[in-house]
Amino acid sequence: KKCFVCKKRTPLASNFLCRCGQNFCTLHRYPEAHACTVDYKVEGRKALRESHPVVTVPKLPKI
Ligand SMILES: [Zn+2]
Ligand SMILES: [Zn+2]
Repeated sequence: KKCFVCKKRTPLASNFLCRCGQNFCTLHRYPEAHACTVDYKVEGRKALRESHPVVTVPKLPKI
């Protein structure tokens, strides 16, 4: 397998499959390093919403 960015051969130990479906070397495995097509901001927001559902807290009654 080869790195999608630098076309270097990536042995199993240093081969990283990104969520965009391409293989990368240790240098280019990060989304910022290969102009990743996966929208991590949207994914992160989605995950955040799922783990923290909107809870409507009932207001305390006036005494
Ligand atoms: Zn590379
Ligand atoms: Zn990617």
